[in-house]
Amino acid sequence: MSKKTPHWIRKTHLFRADEYICSVCGAVCPKPFKVCPSCGVSPGKTVYSPTWVDEAEMLSAILDDDW
Ligand SMILES: [Zn+2]
Repeated sequence: MSKKTPHWIRKTHLFRADEYICSVCGAVCPKPFKVCPSCGVSPGKTVYSPTWVDEAEMLSAILDDDW
């Protein structure tokens, strides 16, 4: 059993500003607030999540259409 602690998931984008996502409710915020404006928990630390990898995969998926 793994008990998840609330945290912000920092997402870095290639073409957009960073976003912070509440691990509890999934709310997307422009910055890591002390309290999530959506669900009211206090996500402590921020976990870095390099979303640009996802977007790079999207780009490669588009490129794969050439096949
Ligand atoms: Zn939340």
